[in-house]
Amino acid sequence: MADKELAIYVHVPFCWRKCRYCAFYSEPLNAGSARVPGYLRAIRRELAALSWHLNRETPLKGVSLFLGGGTPTALRAPELAALLASLQAGLSLSPLAERTAESNPGTLTAEKLAVLRDYGINRISLGVQSFQDALLRRIGRMHSSEQAEEAIRLIRASGVRNLNLDLMFGLPGQTRRDWEQTVERALAYEPEHLSLYGLMLEAGTSLGDEYLGKGTENTSDLPDDDEQADMYQWAAERLRQAGYGRYETSNFALPGKECRHHLNYWRGKDYLGLGPGAVSCLDGQRWKNRESVEEYIHGMGITGKSKAPAREESETLSREQRMTERVMLGLRLAEGVDIRAFERDFGAALSEVFAEALPGYISREILIIEDGFLRLAPAYAFVANAILRDFVL
Ligand code: SF4
Repeated sequence: MADKELAIYVHVPFCWRKCRYCAFYSEPLNAGSARVPGYLRAIRRELAALSWHLNRETPLKGVSLFLGGGTPTALRAPELAALLASLQAGLSLSPLAERTAESNPGTLTAEKLAVLRDYGINRISLGVQSFQDALLRRIGRMHSSEQAEEAIRLIRASGVRNLNLDLMFGLPGQTRRDWEQTVERALAYEPEHLSLYGLMLEAGTSLGDEYLGKGTENTSDLPDDDEQADMYQWAAERLRQAGYGRYETSNFALPGKECRHHLNYWRGKDYLGLGPGAVSCLDGQRWKNRESVEEYIHGMGITGKSKAPAREESETLSREQRMTERVMLGLRLAEGVDIRAFERDFGAALSEVFAEALPGYISREILIIEDGFLRLAPAYAFVANAILRDFVL
């Protein structure tokens, strides 16, 4: 089998504490620390199994590596080193490949940064969320704004020149002024990249359960949709003035600093995910690993008598699904969907496949066809999700 270039994601499913809004799969480390050695062994096993599955003798070739979670830096420095050593042995990454590690203030030390740097991590994505301590406490973040600033200083001192800061708007009790102060403070650190996320209330999370289904009086301290849209538009304009391009609905970067790993995904390219809960998509086949450290470890044959495989779902994507996803992901990108690539990959014209949804949006100039790309007019970026629902085949 010829070498295939892949974006590689590794899920580190541990956090020191669960944030109140978080629906991502992760386990509090105080309960799961005993599982770290088994997790590390299972990752090595999965790497070997993938090489075998893909029928190749050489290591998997990655165009990017993304250590996400969870909180990769919740691991201790020797554990982080063991994980990175396994990845280095099992993957072939060009020295120029983008290698990102997610981190949270309070979990990052100079020692861990030295480990990350030693193994070639050249991009850090830091979950700052807000520079207001009262808001951080409200959403259950384990760190203060001062710890976030200390983490940024440590990252810069370690020589990392590609830094993303995650910020959140729409938080309970957050005013427009709070949000503006957070964005301005983030800009003062001159990060190469900023991700702006609106709070999503999800059932089953602590914050979601506090608000959902209890009547509108309980949502009175949440910024409403208009206020959230205002916060987003203000920040998008402020970042534009500061030289950041909006290349995806939630993502802004200085020129050339767009996240290559995520671009690969949004452009509909193949990717491999390792670790519990990670998703892979390769040659039209998509699978997901079990969202449980214990089951993942068992499934990889490390401990116990596994009856269940480490994968919990596997599906062959239909042509319709792949076309829908290409458009839904592509329209979140400022560049849009490459019309010719769509036709080449699916043997059908985009305008014919979406003959029902397209004309109305184009006549109202919500969608624009320009330079061979179909894209969403910038003014509608914040409501992209509502529009995209019409493109499900
Ligand atoms: S640190 Fe991130 S992954 Fe962990 S609980 Fe908080 S939001 Fe979720």
